[in-house]
Amino acid sequence: MSGIAGKIKSITESLPDDVRLVAVSKFHHVEALREAYDAGQRIFGESRVQELAQKYVLMPDDVEWHFIGHLQTNKVRKLVPYVSLIHSVDSSYLLECIDTEAVRVGRIVNVLLQLHVAQEESKFGFSEEDCIALVDSGLLERMKNVRVCGVMGMATNTDDMATVRVEFKKIKNIYEELKTGYFKDKPYFKEVSMGMSDDYSIAIEEGSTMIRIGTTIFGSREYPTE
Ligand SMILES: *Cc1c(COP(=O)(O)O)cnc(C)c1O
Repeated sequence: MSGIAGKIKSITESLPDDVRLVAVSKFHHVEALREAYDAGQRIFGESRVQELAQKYVLMPDDVEWHFIGHLQTNKVRKLVPYVSLIHSVDSSYLLECIDTEAVRVGRIVNVLLQLHVAQEESKFGFSEEDCIALVDSGLLERMKNVRVCGVMGMATNTDDMATVRVEFKKIKNIYEELKTGYFKDKPYFKEVSMGMSDDYSIAIEEGSTMIRIGTTIFGSREYPTE
């Protein structure tokens, strides 16, 4: 068994039934994805539209492609035909752009709201106040072909696991507020995407339903210079 297959198997076997694994394959060659696929993995996460589109044609049809990177509005049109779930919706404007495109091509597009809870300035996303403002704005009622299925978040990149845990709790709390508020009659609002290679066990303890793991499965990424 390859290293990749072994990792997929050991992670998958350790997961509670209600937690799914997104294999984050960004920057890795399609051969690596095939090894993961042959080990039973079906959900792959990519962070660049062009790369996802290229891998889409090379991989079997039953792969579920998740987009996890920062999405520019001018890339929405290219992404919508391929994607099963966009984890990284970080503005109302982006939500509107996705809906417009989804209507145009007649697809329902599933998305998560990316929450900003980490200390880093650079992380995109909605704060708790932004979520309240979004709900109050009436925009969600106007969405025709976008289905908001939950939230996604990242903890601060730190060795201090107490901080990480507090941030995951915060993500879960905002999720619960939305779930019992605006989304209370929307059974599809049920996903909490949190947890990466270094912190996924804590994320699961704090209520994650989707973990996004790259390095632990595929090894370190070789970032192309562009
Ligand atoms: C790259 C990336 C991951 C995977 O990170 P690893 O530390 O390699 O597991 C997860 N989530 C997002 C949003 C990412 O960009």
